[in-house]
Amino acid sequence: MEAYDAIVVGSGPNGFAAAILLQQQGLQTLLIEGADTLGGGMRTKEITLPGFKHDICSAIHPMALASPFLSTLPLAEHGLQFVFAPNEVAHPLDTEHAAILQRDLEQTALGLGKDSSAYKALFEPFVKQWDDLSQAVLGPLRFPRNPILMAKFGLKALPSAAMMAKTFETTEAKALWAGLCAHGIQPLENLTTAAIGIMLGTVGHRFGWPMAVGGSQAVADALASYFQAIGGNIQTDYWVDDVNQLPNHKVLLLDMTPKQVLNIKGLALRTGYRNQLKAYRQGLGVFKMDWALSDPIPFRNPAVMQSSTVHLGGTYEEIARAEYHTAQGRIPDAPYVLLSQQSLFDSTRAPAGKHTAWAYCHVPHGSTADCTKIIENQIERFAPGFKDTILAKHTFNTQQMESYNPNYVGGDINGGVMDLAQLYTRPSFSLTPYRTSNKNVYIASSSTPPGGGVHGMCGFHAARMALEDHFNVKINLQWQELC
Ligand SMILES: Cc1cc2nc3c(=O)[nH]c(=O)nc-3n(C[C@H](O)[C@H](O)[C@H](O)COP(=O)(O)OP(=O)(O)OC[C@H]3O[C@@H](n4cnc5c(N)ncnc54)[C@H](O)[C@@H]3O)c2cc1C
Repeated sequence: MEAYDAIVVGSGPNGFAAAILLQQQGLQTLLIEGADTLGGGMRTKEITLPGFKHDICSAIHPMALASPFLSTLPLAEHGLQFVFAPNEVAHPLDTEHAAILQRDLEQTALGLGKDSSAYKALFEPFVKQWDDLSQAVLGPLRFPRNPILMAKFGLKALPSAAMMAKTFETTEAKALWAGLCAHGIQPLENLTTAAIGIMLGTVGHRFGWPMAVGGSQAVADALASYFQAIGGNIQTDYWVDDVNQLPNHKVLLLDMTPKQVLNIKGLALRTGYRNQLKAYRQGLGVFKMDWALSDPIPFRNPAVMQSSTVHLGGTYEEIARAEYHTAQGRIPDAPYVLLSQQSLFDSTRAPAGKHTAWAYCHVPHGSTADCTKIIENQIERFAPGFKDTILAKHTFNTQQMESYNPNYVGGDINGGVMDLAQLYTRPSFSLTPYRTSNKNVYIASSSTPPGGGVHGMCGFHAARMALEDHFNVKINLQWQELC
């Protein structure tokens, strides 16, 4: 049997990032994927009608652009192209007004009227100093390179989204803020929910919220192509359940959540460590929908049709209520819906003249409720006539999502709750939570810092630890000098 320096199990963005960093450092690396296609949360498939390409999981890629590691890879040479809509995010309101997040911070702030200065004051320092901020927020806890900036970030990010919403007066600015913070999939009253809003707004202004031409699968395909070009090996269709059956290797990195890690035989993890993994908390789930459409979604406000991402849910108060009710185990009548209309900006997604749409709402963990009606009603509310454009649709409840990808436990797309207690010390209470109690085994998934999203930084840090511990290779954390 062939011997490898490293085996990485799971081909999500984190599995790929880990495998690539290891291979770049000269380690013979095998990447194993259980499914028959690569990509984890980056797959695109025809699941409604022939010719309509739908992103099954991730669709929008600000975090891939902002990733200090993925952004250093020559993925354009391996076929990856991003496309940007004129607006990054739109948040329509019943009044027919919409708050619009544009790449240009100044323009966005101007559109928020009385809240112009407050909005600019919140985001400007972080947009300008993203390089310093990213070192601190996209990895494990460590002493920041720019402590003053981090103190500023801490003051604004540690509070709840609800507390920070008081910074704004207008319905538009408050709603835009709610939509950004609600990506954290938690009640907006929870501490640190402001952090996700600040980070997503900051990367929106700094990098934009693009889509991959052809779908998110193009990100996975480019990562696979680059990994193989530098000598990496890939095996698909192999669900790992016993490490003793793997080819020989020195280190093993798992792009998996604690629940899956606990089920793998032969890992020889200590009881105390296993107990920490058992105590790890998963978060709320999602109900996901995809549509094949005869026409673009007829949003009442034309600026919304110029946006790749649309946040639906109305005012700050409505979104806060919906997220609170979901956390209480209820399905809200009018959920917060995240929607993307990729085919408007990427003609490869649908047959000529036709369109696709992608959306999800948050639901209780493990819920099997069918949210089709409430999601479609929420779209119709801001785009009368939407329902008449539907040619076909596909849905995933939380359990179908988990069967599709076992990393989405109970429909949780962030690999575990990203609250104060689990933000930096996930999945175990350690400053280096990528290490397990077995010195040859590492966790590399979004269940480690910095958590969910297509950025690969969890995998990068796990591989960095393995390189340091076993191969005497120290990776420079000055991002600009990474490769
Ligand atoms: C509906 C939805 C929408 C999303 N939207 C966005 C978005 O727009 N932008 C964004 O940045 N993020 C988005 N995300 C989140 C993002 O997809 C995830 O955070 C990210 O994919 C996590 O990466 P990962 O590498 O940790 O795990 P994953 O991408 O989940 O990959 C894990 C891989 O490991 C494999 N695997 C697991 N167990 C085994 C085993 N035993 N043997 C072999 N293989 C195994 C799985 O098959 C899977 O391919 C979304 C997710 C979902 C579900």
